Amino acid sequence: MKILVPVKRVVDYNVKIRVRPDGSGVELANVKMSMNPFDEIAVEEAIRLKEKGKATEIVAVSIGPAQSAETIRTALAMGADRGILVRTDQTVEPLAVAKILKAIIANENPGLVIMGKQAIDDDANQTGQMLGALIGWAQGTFASKVELGEGTVDVTREVDGGLQTVSLKLPAIVTTDLRLNEPRYASLPNIMKAKKKPLDETSAEALGVDLSPRLKVIKTAEPPVRQAGVKVGSIADLVAKLKNEAGVL
Ligand code: AMP
Repeated sequence: MKILVPVKRVVDYNVKIRVRPDGSGVELANVKMSMNPFDEIAVEEAIRLKEKGKATEIVAVSIGPAQSAETIRTALAMGADRGILVRTDQTVEPLAVAKILKAIIANENPGLVIMGKQAIDDDANQTGQMLGALIGWAQGTFASKVELGEGTVDVTREVDGGLQTVSLKLPAIVTTDLRLNEPRYASLPNIMKAKKKPLDETSAEALGVDLSPRLKVIKTAEPPVRQAGVKVGSIADLVAKLKNEAGVL
Protein backbone atom coordinates (compact mmCIF):
# COMPACT_ATOMS: atom_id res chain seq x y z
CA MET A 1 0.00 0.00 0.00
CA LYS A 2 1.18 3.45 -0.89
CA ILE A 3 1.01 6.28 1.68
CA LEU A 4 0.84 9.92 0.63
CA VAL A 5 2.21 12.47 3.10
CA PRO A 6 1.69 16.19 2.40
CA VAL A 7 4.44 18.27 4.02
CA LYS A 8 4.33 22.04 4.31
CA ARG A 9 7.28 24.43 4.57
CA VAL A 10 6.55 26.86 7.40
CA VAL A 11 8.43 29.32 9.63
CA ASP A 12 10.42 27.23 12.13
CA TYR A 13 8.58 26.84 15.42
CA ASN A 14 11.53 28.34 17.34
CA VAL A 15 11.46 31.60 15.39
CA LYS A 16 9.88 34.63 17.03
CA ILE A 17 7.35 35.77 14.45
CA ARG A 18 7.53 39.39 13.32
CA VAL A 19 4.74 41.18 11.49
CA ARG A 20 5.75 43.21 8.41
CA PRO A 21 5.75 46.95 9.19
CA ASP A 22 2.86 47.53 6.73
CA GLY A 23 0.73 44.85 8.46
CA SER A 24 0.38 42.91 5.21
CA GLY A 25 1.53 39.65 6.79
CA VAL A 26 4.34 37.90 8.60
CA GLU A 27 7.99 38.66 7.76
CA LEU A 28 9.44 35.74 5.81
CA ALA A 29 12.69 37.29 4.55
CA ASN A 30 15.79 35.74 6.16
CA VAL A 31 13.68 33.62 8.49
CA LYS A 32 14.50 29.97 9.21
CA MET A 33 11.91 27.69 7.59
CA SER A 34 11.28 24.02 8.44
CA MET A 35 8.81 21.23 7.91
CA ASN A 36 5.53 21.80 9.75
CA PRO A 37 5.95 19.81 13.02
CA PHE A 38 2.66 17.92 12.58
CA ASP A 39 3.86 16.84 9.12
CA GLU A 40 7.08 15.46 10.63
CA ILE A 41 4.84 13.33 12.84
CA ALA A 42 2.92 12.23 9.72
CA VAL A 43 6.15 11.26 7.92
CA GLU A 44 7.32 9.35 11.02
CA GLU A 45 4.04 7.44 11.24
CA ALA A 46 4.20 6.49 7.56
CA ILE A 47 7.79 5.26 7.99
CA ARG A 48 6.80 3.16 11.02
CA LEU A 49 4.00 1.55 8.99
CA LYS A 50 6.49 0.80 6.23
CA GLU A 51 8.98 -0.63 8.71
CA LYS A 52 6.24 -2.93 10.02
CA GLY A 53 5.72 -4.17 6.46
CA LYS A 54 2.27 -2.55 6.20
CA ALA A 55 3.17 0.02 3.57
CA THR A 56 5.25 -0.34 0.46
CA GLU A 57 5.94 3.22 -0.63
CA ILE A 58 5.81 6.69 0.94
CA VAL A 59 5.33 9.70 -1.32
CA ALA A 60 5.91 13.17 0.17
CA VAL A 61 4.15 16.10 -1.49
CA SER A 62 4.71 19.80 -0.92
CA ILE A 63 2.97 22.76 -2.49
CA GLY A 64 4.96 25.96 -2.43
CA PRO A 65 8.01 27.80 -3.77
CA ALA A 66 11.18 26.14 -5.10
CA GLN A 67 12.57 25.96 -1.55
CA SER A 68 9.76 23.57 -0.57
CA ALA A 69 11.95 20.96 -2.29
CA GLU A 70 14.14 21.16 0.86
CA THR A 71 11.14 20.20 2.96
CA ILE A 72 10.56 17.21 0.70
CA ARG A 73 14.27 16.29 0.97
CA THR A 74 13.89 16.29 4.76
CA ALA A 75 11.01 13.81 4.43
CA LEU A 76 13.14 11.71 2.05
CA ALA A 77 16.05 11.81 4.52
CA MET A 78 13.73 10.60 7.29
CA GLY A 79 12.67 7.64 5.11
CA ALA A 80 10.10 8.63 2.48
CA ASP A 81 10.76 7.11 -0.94
CA ARG A 82 9.80 9.75 -3.46
CA GLY A 83 8.73 13.38 -3.62
CA ILE A 84 6.41 15.58 -5.64
CA LEU A 85 6.82 19.36 -5.58
CA VAL A 86 3.86 21.38 -6.81
CA ARG A 87 5.74 24.56 -7.42
CA THR A 88 4.07 27.94 -7.00
CA ASP A 89 5.02 31.34 -5.63
CA GLN A 90 1.39 32.23 -4.92
CA THR A 91 -0.29 31.94 -1.52
CA VAL A 92 -2.16 28.65 -1.51
CA GLU A 93 -5.23 28.48 0.69
CA PRO A 94 -6.34 25.18 2.30
CA LEU A 95 -9.10 24.58 -0.28
CA ALA A 96 -6.61 24.93 -3.14
CA VAL A 97 -4.17 22.59 -1.32
CA ALA A 98 -7.00 20.06 -0.92
CA LYS A 99 -7.86 20.32 -4.64
CA ILE A 100 -4.21 19.80 -5.59
CA LEU A 101 -3.98 16.79 -3.27
CA LYS A 102 -7.17 15.43 -4.82
CA ALA A 103 -5.56 15.61 -8.29
CA ILE A 104 -2.36 13.94 -7.02
CA ILE A 105 -4.38 11.21 -5.33
CA ALA A 106 -6.14 10.52 -8.65
CA ASN A 107 -2.70 9.97 -10.26
CA GLU A 108 -1.03 8.12 -7.39
CA ASN A 109 -3.83 6.01 -5.92
CA PRO A 110 -2.57 5.84 -2.32
CA GLY A 111 -4.35 3.66 0.24
CA LEU A 112 -3.77 6.17 3.02
CA VAL A 113 -3.05 9.87 3.34
CA ILE A 114 -1.35 10.91 6.57
CA MET A 115 -1.08 14.66 7.08
CA GLY A 116 -0.77 17.23 9.85
CA LYS A 117 -3.86 18.33 11.77
CA GLN A 118 -2.76 21.89 11.11
CA ALA A 119 0.03 23.98 9.72
CA ILE A 120 1.56 26.15 12.44
CA ASP A 121 1.80 29.22 10.21
CA ASP A 122 -1.88 29.94 9.56
CA ASP A 123 -3.29 27.42 12.09
CA ALA A 124 -6.10 26.71 9.62
CA ASN A 125 -6.80 23.06 10.54
CA GLN A 126 -8.86 22.71 7.35
CA THR A 127 -6.96 20.88 4.63
CA GLY A 128 -7.48 17.27 5.79
CA GLN A 129 -11.17 17.81 6.36
CA MET A 130 -11.63 19.60 3.02
CA LEU A 131 -9.76 16.82 1.22
CA GLY A 132 -12.03 14.25 2.92
CA ALA A 133 -15.08 16.13 1.67
CA LEU A 134 -13.72 16.52 -1.87
CA ILE A 135 -12.83 12.87 -2.39
CA GLY A 136 -15.42 11.26 -0.14
CA TRP A 137 -12.91 9.29 1.94
CA ALA A 138 -13.26 8.53 5.64
CA GLN A 139 -11.14 10.71 7.90
CA GLY A 140 -9.63 10.21 11.34
CA THR A 141 -8.52 13.62 12.57
CA PHE A 142 -6.29 14.49 15.58
CA ALA A 143 -4.81 10.99 15.70
CA SER A 144 -2.80 9.86 18.73
CA LYS A 145 -2.71 6.21 17.62
CA VAL A 146 -3.01 4.56 14.20
CA GLU A 147 -3.45 0.82 13.69
CA LEU A 148 -3.67 -0.59 10.19
CA GLY A 149 -5.81 -3.69 9.73
CA GLU A 150 -6.98 -5.56 6.65
CA GLY A 151 -8.75 -2.91 4.57
CA THR A 152 -9.32 -0.75 7.65
CA VAL A 153 -7.45 1.65 9.88
CA ASP A 154 -8.29 2.22 13.53
CA VAL A 155 -7.57 5.76 14.61
CA THR A 156 -7.57 6.91 18.23
CA ARG A 157 -8.53 10.57 18.23
CA GLU A 158 -7.79 13.26 20.77
CA VAL A 159 -11.18 14.78 21.52
CA ASP A 160 -12.33 17.17 24.25
CA GLY A 161 -12.17 15.31 27.52
CA GLY A 162 -10.66 12.06 26.28
CA LEU A 163 -9.93 9.70 23.45
CA GLN A 164 -12.24 8.35 20.77
CA THR A 165 -11.36 5.36 18.59
CA VAL A 166 -12.87 5.11 15.13
CA SER A 167 -12.47 2.39 12.54
CA LEU A 168 -12.19 3.71 8.98
CA LYS A 169 -12.52 1.83 5.73
CA LEU A 170 -9.49 2.29 3.49
CA PRO A 171 -8.65 4.39 1.56
CA ALA A 172 -8.71 7.01 4.29
CA ILE A 173 -7.21 10.25 5.57
CA VAL A 174 -5.52 10.55 8.94
CA THR A 175 -4.47 13.86 10.47
CA THR A 176 -1.82 13.77 13.18
CA ASP A 177 -1.84 15.16 16.70
CA LEU A 178 1.22 15.78 18.87
CA ARG A 179 1.10 12.58 20.90
CA LEU A 180 1.08 10.20 17.92
CA ASN A 181 4.86 9.70 17.93
CA GLU A 182 8.23 11.39 18.27
CA PRO A 183 9.71 11.97 14.82
CA ARG A 184 13.23 10.70 14.20
CA TYR A 185 16.15 12.87 13.17
CA ALA A 186 17.57 12.13 9.75
CA SER A 187 21.07 10.66 9.98
CA LEU A 188 23.86 12.11 7.87
CA PRO A 189 24.10 9.02 5.60
CA ASN A 190 20.34 9.19 5.06
CA ILE A 191 20.55 12.91 4.24
CA MET A 192 23.15 12.04 1.59
CA LYS A 193 21.03 9.17 0.24
CA ALA A 194 17.96 11.43 0.08
CA LYS A 195 19.71 13.59 -2.52
CA LYS A 196 19.45 10.69 -4.95
CA LYS A 197 15.80 9.85 -4.31
CA PRO A 198 13.35 10.90 -7.08
CA LEU A 199 11.69 14.29 -6.74
CA ASP A 200 9.27 15.26 -9.51
CA GLU A 201 8.06 18.78 -10.09
CA THR A 202 4.65 19.83 -11.37
CA SER A 203 2.36 22.85 -11.18
CA ALA A 204 -1.18 23.68 -10.14
CA GLU A 205 -2.03 24.47 -13.79
CA ALA A 206 -0.81 21.04 -14.90
CA LEU A 207 -3.09 19.52 -12.25
CA GLY A 208 -6.00 21.72 -13.37
CA VAL A 209 -6.32 23.66 -10.11
CA ASP A 210 -7.07 27.38 -9.96
CA LEU A 211 -5.16 29.01 -7.10
CA SER A 212 -7.08 32.32 -7.07
CA PRO A 213 -7.54 33.31 -3.43
CA ARG A 214 -10.99 33.30 -1.87
CA LEU A 215 -9.88 35.10 1.24
CA LYS A 216 -8.53 38.60 1.65
CA VAL A 217 -6.26 39.30 4.60
CA ILE A 218 -7.34 42.68 5.88
CA LYS A 219 -4.72 43.13 8.57
CA THR A 220 -2.05 41.25 10.49
CA ALA A 221 -1.10 42.59 13.92
CA GLU A 222 1.28 41.65 16.74
CA PRO A 223 -0.45 40.43 19.91
CA PRO A 224 -0.71 43.15 22.60
CA VAL A 225 2.43 43.41 24.72
CA ARG A 226 1.93 41.85 28.14
CA GLN A 227 2.19 44.27 31.04
CA ALA A 228 4.91 43.61 33.61
CA GLY A 229 3.67 41.88 36.78
CA VAL A 230 3.96 43.19 40.36
CA LYS A 231 4.84 41.34 43.54
CA VAL A 232 2.34 41.68 46.36
CA GLY A 233 3.34 41.63 50.01
CA SER A 234 0.44 39.67 51.43
CA ILE A 235 -2.72 37.79 50.57
CA ALA A 236 -4.75 40.77 51.79
CA ASP A 237 -2.87 42.96 49.29
CA LEU A 238 -3.56 40.48 46.52
CA VAL A 239 -7.28 40.33 47.29
CA ALA A 240 -7.45 44.14 47.46
CA LYS A 241 -5.75 44.44 44.07
CA LEU A 242 -8.00 41.82 42.49
CA LYS A 243 -11.04 43.69 43.86
CA ASN A 244 -10.08 47.28 43.31
CA GLU A 245 -7.63 47.28 40.38
CA ALA A 246 -8.40 44.21 38.31
CA GLY A 247 -12.10 44.23 39.17
CA VAL A 248 -12.28 40.44 38.95
CA LEU A 249 -13.61 39.78 42.46
P1 AMP B 1 -3.89 23.54 7.43
O1 AMP B 1 -5.25 23.09 7.08
O2 AMP B 1 -3.37 24.66 6.57
O3 AMP B 1 -3.74 23.86 8.90
O4 AMP B 1 -2.88 22.32 7.11
C1 AMP B 1 -3.14 21.00 7.53
C2 AMP B 1 -2.18 20.04 6.84
O5 AMP B 1 -2.38 20.10 5.42
C3 AMP B 1 -0.70 20.32 7.02
O6 AMP B 1 -0.22 19.81 8.25
C4 AMP B 1 -0.11 19.61 5.82
O7 AMP B 1 -0.04 18.21 6.03
C5 AMP B 1 -1.15 19.87 4.73
N1 AMP B 1 -0.80 21.08 3.97
C6 AMP B 1 -1.32 22.33 4.08
N2 AMP B 1 -0.73 23.18 3.22
C7 AMP B 1 0.19 22.46 2.55
C8 AMP B 1 1.15 22.74 1.51
N3 AMP B 1 1.26 23.98 0.99
N4 AMP B 1 1.92 21.72 1.04
C9 AMP B 1 1.80 20.49 1.56
N5 AMP B 1 0.93 20.15 2.52
C10 AMP B 1 0.15 21.11 3.01
